[in-house]
Amino acid sequence: MNYIMNLLRGSFPWISALDFGIFLLGSLVVIFVLAFYVYRDSSLRGGKNLLWTICTILFGGILPFLFYMIVRSSYTKEELEEEKLNKELMQLQRNYYELMVSKEIQKCPVCGEEVSADYMYCPKCFTQLKKYCDECKKRVDKDAKICPYCGHIFDEK
Ligand SMILES: [Zn+2]
Ligand SMILES: [Zn+2]
Repeated sequence: MNYIMNLLRGSFPWISALDFGIFLLGSLVVIFVLAFYVYRDSSLRGGKNLLWTICTILFGGILPFLFYMIVRSSYTKEELEEEKLNKELMQLQRNYYELMVSKEIQKCPVCGEEVSADYMYCPKCFTQLKKYCDECKKRVDKDAKICPYCGHIFDEK
């Protein structure tokens, strides 16, 4: 410490020990304020908060703080979780919708057997219920004259 003091006094003769003390105290306060901010902020964002805080203190506050501000995750933990929930909810709704479509019960026009909307053939009487569109390959009603998806017109046979 004395060596640093002498060095400082040699280069900046106008610095007194008091000035230096105040400067040191000031830097310490700045470092701890920054470290505290980093700790709170990275906890909120689910980062490695202790690691960041220690780095901030060790490397003198300002530089690691600036670095942290650049690399920190741009979403808080809550925002991330909210987004994840929204995605899951949308997926659930989609699954539910698909389930409803596939479970929609229709009746076989020939034998009256209950068949699911996604059946190609009646399992009881072998009647063809659906056909594939030649254009877009989607499954459409067997009697459809035009594909409801792509507008392909089926030849009358
Ligand atoms: Zn049938
Ligand atoms: Zn089609």
